[in-house]
Amino acid sequence: MNRPLRAAFPGADAPTGELMPVETALARALALVVPVARCERLALAQATGRVLAQAVTADRPLPPFDNAAMDGYALRLTDLVEPGPWTLPVAARMRAGDAPCPLPRAAACRILTGAALPLGADSVIAQEAVSREGSVIVLERRPSPGLNIRRSGDDLPAGSQIVPAGRCVGPREAAAIAAAGAAKVSVRARVRTTVLCTGSELVAPGQPLAPGQIWDANRAMLNAALDRAWIAPADLGALPDDPDRLSATLIAACQRSDLVITTGGVSVGDEDHLTRLFTDAGGRNDVLKLAMKPGKPLTIGRLGRALWLGLPGNPVAAFVAWTVIGLPLAAALAGLTPTSLPRTFVQLSAPLRHRPGRCEYRPARLAGQCAPGPAFVDCPDSPGSHRVALLAQSDGLVRIPAEVAEMRAGDLIEFLPF
Ligand code: AMP
Ligand code: MG
Repeated sequence: MNRPLRAAFPGADAPTGELMPVETALARALALVVPVARCERLALAQATGRVLAQAVTADRPLPPFDNAAMDGYALRLTDLVEPGPWTLPVAARMRAGDAPCPLPRAAACRILTGAALPLGADSVIAQEAVSREGSVIVLERRPSPGLNIRRSGDDLPAGSQIVPAGRCVGPREAAAIAAAGAAKVSVRARVRTTVLCTGSELVAPGQPLAPGQIWDANRAMLNAALDRAWIAPADLGALPDDPDRLSATLIAACQRSDLVITTGGVSVGDEDHLTRLFTDAGGRNDVLKLAMKPGKPLTIGRLGRALWLGLPGNPVAAFVAWTVIGLPLAAALAGLTPTSLPRTFVQLSAPLRHRPGRCEYRPARLAGQCAPGPAFVDCPDSPGSHRVALLAQSDGLVRIPAEVAEMRAGDLIEFLPF
């Protein structure tokens, strides 16, 4: 029975090949990456979200001078002779922004937070710790040396690195770079990324559906996923499963992109043409099938200078493959220093079953926390890689290891929050 059926549907004869563990696939994918070499120098305000091409260093210490950490009084400890209490005249007043003046002998200086320490002062006593009587202060206890003083260079010595190359300029990085007085930074060029969805059944949202058609979910998903300052996205919309058009579009996209992302058409069905078209065009595939559920049909290859990431068509599978493989790959192209995916451990609110063989990423919902300890998650038994609405209702993905057959309620499980 099987033979004539296979002959009639040649895709069914395609070799299944070995499934590659996710970690191996990611390592192989990353080995193909040559980060974008083009750079530009931008004003810090224009560099938000971009990847630093060069480390930023401080040409002077941070903070640049000794200053007060509290509103209070600066004094010299050697002026506190004999046992206390001590009375000192308030000889001057230092506000943030004033140039430091010398501290007269046997006197205190009123000082406000951030003001430069008067020359000769070695302690700042908080205003709450003294009593002020007219133009003098009275203190009962001897303050310790260096009290309430922020020393020059205690955050960063001169000449040291503030932010390394390979970091994205976020609020923390921007603050440190600005505090060191740098007005411009060198950043890597954006990764030119082209999205192409494939499938004769696809219709753009807003257009009427003929029988058998569906609205294209992946295009919107990828456009949203690529909305990052370090990516320059191009969107080619959706194409039907027409080998000539697909081939011409794929080749042209590879010529003008650093990364081409397609969805659909990489499995073993008769209308899954992309892998063959890519190889026919001279492309080299490295990863073809992943030991991952969903997202088994995944292709990563190189054509000329471009990388091609062929994601599966099912939206949940495309999203999972993008999250686990695609985003780290794009980040490496951008020159971002690798960081592992944000992950945590949660506990299952109910038992789950899993067919051993492939590691599985399953959409899951946080179900609250009782007392201190890991939060609970609910995850459906039959997620289905088409269940895009379920994905939108989830808080993250749980990762079920390949070898596991079942887990009990209360078991800890890895969780990748969205
Ligand atoms: P494929 O990988 O091309 O075999 O597609 C697998 C499944 O995903 C099929 O049910 C397709 O109809 C569906 N699919 C493919 N592309 C999309 C898309 N862009 N949006 C929504 N569903 C899609
Ligand atoms: Mg298809």
